[in-house]
Amino acid sequence: MKLLIANGHLIDPAAPENTGMSVLIEDGRVEAWLGPGEKAPEGCEVFDASGLLVAPGFIDMHVHLREPGQEHKETIASGCAAAGAGGWTSVCPMPNTTPVNDNAAITRYMIEQAERAGLANVFPIGAITKSSDGSELAEMGEMKAAGAVAVSDDGRPVSNAGIMRRAMQYARDFDLPVIDHCEDKSLSSGGVMHEGRISLLLGLKGMPALAEEIDAVRDILLAKETGAHIHLAHISTCGAIEAVRRAKNEGINVTCEVTPHHFTLSDKAVEGYDTNTKMSPPLRSEEHLEAIIEGIKDGTIDAIATDHAPHHADEKALEYDRAPFGITGLETAVGLAFNELVHRGIIGLERLVEMCSSNPAKIFRLDGRGTLKPGSIADVSIIDPERKWTYSTADSRSKSRNTPFDGWEFTGKAVATFVAGKVVFSDIQISAAKS
Ligand SMILES: [Zn+2]
Repeated sequence: MKLLIANGHLIDPAAPENTGMSVLIEDGRVEAWLGPGEKAPEGCEVFDASGLLVAPGFIDMHVHLREPGQEHKETIASGCAAAGAGGWTSVCPMPNTTPVNDNAAITRYMIEQAERAGLANVFPIGAITKSSDGSELAEMGEMKAAGAVAVSDDGRPVSNAGIMRRAMQYARDFDLPVIDHCEDKSLSSGGVMHEGRISLLLGLKGMPALAEEIDAVRDILLAKETGAHIHLAHISTCGAIEAVRRAKNEGINVTCEVTPHHFTLSDKAVEGYDTNTKMSPPLRSEEHLEAIIEGIKDGTIDAIATDHAPHHADEKALEYDRAPFGITGLETAVGLAFNELVHRGIIGLERLVEMCSSNPAKIFRLDGRGTLKPGSIADVSIIDPERKWTYSTADSRSKSRNTPFDGWEFTGKAVATFVAGKVVFSDIQISAAKS
């Protein structure tokens, strides 16, 4: 079956100057680009993308899908449905499931569940240490062979520098990036928000920026020494961003991502004690927010990732101190990126596609993704940059509702999502017209 995505504004790293190109898809792959004058082949289904952006499928490097073990919060199928609705064609789940994804069997299970759902690609992230308890290294080679694209102990970061050093040596030999949730818990433990003026005013225990920065610097030094590729998750502080900037200048193999909530909100949002403003790392103060925007502008920050972290409403209904960390994010990321970055002139569309698709593909070595050049896999994100819409959790595809962005108005929306040439989400009329 052939499909032509016609007349859209194609934004692709392989041809940044390209506009007015149509993308011809056959058997799940991009067959060719057709110029404005070229006719669609006979019998070809046509998707009219006039006025819309056509981008290589967005890849969310950092999600929590809760399956296996906490399916009341999210399943792989419901998480993938939310991904498609948010414009993401691929998601990379962290290993903090129950049990932890520290072996090939669980990695394989996650991929199979995703294939069964058929809504998005799932590229699992394996644990660094067994049960993510920080002591014994997990079987990285076996997880990689089963389909894992990176290793991380995310929310339970490896505190022992010696073990982290050995983990990086192993990961380097398997060509796996090590994803680092930078948090020295001896500094942050018991904290529930950013430590600063507002935590003092609110009487909540703070997590200092230093907790992130010390770990970032330690692991950048380890990456320099071992030659491993380290990827800093959800970077949120001036000091960590500055450390990455310097490391990149030095040629150290380091990349990093930022979440939409960290480039949108500051710790002022915590003032109403809404537990949907509680996440780790926490929302930072204005000066950190400015450093994040600067890091997005100058290219220090490589990617946008949601850290989608579903929690049941009952848990988030607890008082601020006791509620779990994390918010959902798959369905609001594109809207936030347009509101806060694109429409404010902080980044252009090419850079947005770089941060949401081509860089994640490069960082995780996902061959054939992150681009729509002929021969690549036909994962496509179609976005209407001018569509005005209001996010309502009542319509969410996720099983969870824990977001501070319920009721927010956006300009810019994912309007159709294709995975391997198949539509998995659309909220526009697909023209079934045959050419
Ligand atoms: Zn994390």
